[in-house]
Amino acid sequence: MIPAVLPIYNRAPLSFVSGEGSWLVEADGRRFLDLGGGIAVNVLGHAHPALTAALTAQAGQLWHTSNLYHVPQQEALAEKLVEQTFADTVFFANSGTETCELAVKMARKYWHEKGQPERHVILAFTGSFHGRSSAGIAAAGSEKMIGGFGPVLPGFRHLPFGDHDALAQAMKAPDVAAVILEPVQGEGGIVPVPDQCLKGLRDLCDDTGALMILDEVQCGMGRTGKLFAHEWAGVTPDIMMVAKGIGGGFPLGALLSTERAASGMKPGNHGSTYGGNPLACAVGNAVMDIVATEDFLSEVRRKAGLFRQGLEGLVAAHPDVFDLVRGSGLMLGLKCKVPAGDVVQAAYGQDTCIVPAADNTVRLLPALNISDDDIREALRRLDRAAASLVPA
Ligand SMILES: *Cc1c(COP(=O)(O)O)cnc(C)c1O
Repeated sequence: MIPAVLPIYNRAPLSFVSGEGSWLVEADGRRFLDLGGGIAVNVLGHAHPALTAALTAQAGQLWHTSNLYHVPQQEALAEKLVEQTFADTVFFANSGTETCELAVKMARKYWHEKGQPERHVILAFTGSFHGRSSAGIAAAGSEKMIGGFGPVLPGFRHLPFGDHDALAQAMKAPDVAAVILEPVQGEGGIVPVPDQCLKGLRDLCDDTGALMILDEVQCGMGRTGKLFAHEWAGVTPDIMMVAKGIGGGFPLGALLSTERAASGMKPGNHGSTYGGNPLACAVGNAVMDIVATEDFLSEVRRKAGLFRQGLEGLVAAHPDVFDLVRGSGLMLGLKCKVPAGDVVQAAYGQDTCIVPAADNTVRLLPALNISDDDIREALRRLDRAAASLVPA
């Protein structure tokens, strides 16, 4: 008989009843070190007092009105995002893949309004992940995601990751509306796009007018040690998808764009019942107030250096288990030589949560405010997990 919950996840036999900082607690009191952060969501760990206070204060006042009315919490959060980024305007959604939907619609509408509706193709890259909606899976384009769900949303063209010549060629096509990519591929195995490539892509977009859509759902919100990952390359996108970390665990997504890219969108063209509701935006404001400060981000960079150095040592100590470390900031991947799933299981054996990804990689996406002690404890536990995998 089918379980009451649709069985589409391969769940670990764990469940947690509470959390504090970088720790998760099971009903029997067993404590796990959380290095997955709910897949890059819990940027301030569990039960952060400022987020709990923001949520409970709002909960006692007003949960939901509607986008029929002004939502002051939404306006405040949008202003913060506009002030801190390239963006001129923000749309709020509830998840990452919803921001992909609007990114695609906005790019197509832009060209439509410019009288060039034939410019509707979105270029995307192999190994990418943009969520599970119809536009998200069409953008990623992998057989694993689209298989059986056809007909796939048309108008996407896929390019091999890291092939600048193929990209330059593809950009010349007269039907290209936009390019979508993650500055650091997350699900794909923590694969950063080199700064040079992002710069080159920006130049190509400037030459052709195509819109540059960055998916910072996983790598944004301080994860790499800058508020957004593209800042490392010194370029700005036209449209950017944000979710995961921005709500710190409360469902929230945001689509940021320039005035130019948003120019086709008119009242009635898009919407969301819950998007940017008072509860979500109360938490989003509290997250931004902490994360979007230079003191916080420089601490992320320092902690990332500590963690990464330790992981390099771990790889050196276990050359049969690990191949290499890659990533940016506290978005770290360990490419494995043994099956990555075995490493995840071995970490569970050490009461530690890590996250599998493609390319036989495991991901470390800890809370951005993880303590130095917890980083050192993580390294000890990963060391024991790796040791438990080496055949005697
Ligand atoms: C998680 C993720 C998404 C999808 O976000 P959901 O909130 O699960 O819809 C999209 N893009 C990237 C890069 C992601 O990591």
